[in-house]
Amino acid sequence: MPSTADDWARDLCRYVDASPSPFHAVDESVRRLEAAGFTAISPDDDRSTPGRWYLRSGGALVAWVDADRSADAPLRVIGAHTDSPNLRVKPLPDHGALGLRQVGVEVYGGALLNSWLDRDLGISGRLVVRNDDGRLEHLVRDDRPIARIPQLAIHLDREVSDKGLLLNPQTHLSPIVGAGLAEPGAFTTSLAAMADVDPADVLAFDAMFHDVVPACLSGPDDEFVSAARLDDLLSCHAGTEALIAVGGHDSIRDVGPAVPVLALFDHEEVGSVSATGAAGPLLHRTLRRFVNLDGRRVRGSLALSVDGTHGTHPNYTERHDGEHRVLLNGGPVLKFNAKQRYATDAPGAAELRQIAEKASVPLQSFVSRSDMPCGTTIGPATAASTGLLTVDLGVAQLAMHSAREFCGSQDPAMLGRLLEAALAG
Ligand code: ZN
Repeated sequence: MPSTADDWARDLCRYVDASPSPFHAVDESVRRLEAAGFTAISPDDDRSTPGRWYLRSGGALVAWVDADRSADAPLRVIGAHTDSPNLRVKPLPDHGALGLRQVGVEVYGGALLNSWLDRDLGISGRLVVRNDDGRLEHLVRDDRPIARIPQLAIHLDREVSDKGLLLNPQTHLSPIVGAGLAEPGAFTTSLAAMADVDPADVLAFDAMFHDVVPACLSGPDDEFVSAARLDDLLSCHAGTEALIAVGGHDSIRDVGPAVPVLALFDHEEVGSVSATGAAGPLLHRTLRRFVNLDGRRVRGSLALSVDGTHGTHPNYTERHDGEHRVLLNGGPVLKFNAKQRYATDAPGAAELRQIAEKASVPLQSFVSRSDMPCGTTIGPATAASTGLLTVDLGVAQLAMHSAREFCGSQDPAMLGRLLEAALAG
């Protein structure tokens, strides 16, 4: 575990750079968990023996430490999501004109579309390839600046500064991916080359674009983190490191009194309803099969839904509630919403405040303006499927859903300390 808050933030940058797609985020968490002694288990395996386990499914992951605790030991679950808004490649993407090759994309999630313009883009994702045993999955990525969506020049769009930028997702967002004639199958051929396989063997792909500029600390005193996908890789990173801190000891007996669980879900940005999303059965089924969910003590059990939170924007303070200012580097933020778009209630908030006090971590509180709709996260779905007391919280950030987001550099480590204390029980 990194020793200072700056080191923690630099490690977060490494995690983000390793994770251009949800599949890569799971891969990076698995790499870290395996180095700490965790072992893969398949959903069809029998009940696990005591040990450190992880179950991987596409862009989702559930990991836990089974120290053979009695049913009296409560569950402590950390949930976060691996996906971020971006541009995803269509199944038959190749087109072009004027000697330029382009690929067709769909917008994934609530992306700030303007932030994808005039950026050097790389590509990543997974391929499913035919082989002798049936099929094999390959993760692929190319971090070279191989694609670009140039903005229309202001001389050809005179009203853009007064009336705002209007982007049609079908006609204005196709990245330019090269020069020459657009041949059918050209994009699949380029993916096949990344995996070093025959293009004819590629059965299907999930591919998406990413900003190739590495994440970094920014500000004259490294006060900030500037990175893609902070929502919600910041929480995936903190959750992974917290589970390793609690469960990665030499002796498995040294974990705290609770049963610690990490759940990283896909598809939060498009509503969580999928086999690997928080509204799907993955967590509930895994907890029932391997962690004795139904037999566990309810009192003391707790689920934390950890996701990015809006910091108060200095240029738009009127968009925020006046009594709930949320500061960068002010500590993790409890999220409240009367309509249960966030799952936090008074008992959950109270429990987390006591955990934070013990861990000497300051907490802030977020609530939306009453005349503005509120986003949601995986908390309500997790609460509904597991029945556990659930709290929504996260680190404050600006520019949420931009291709490049912004947060304080001291908050991620504070979140890590808080999650570690919560998992220990
Ligand atoms: Zn999020």
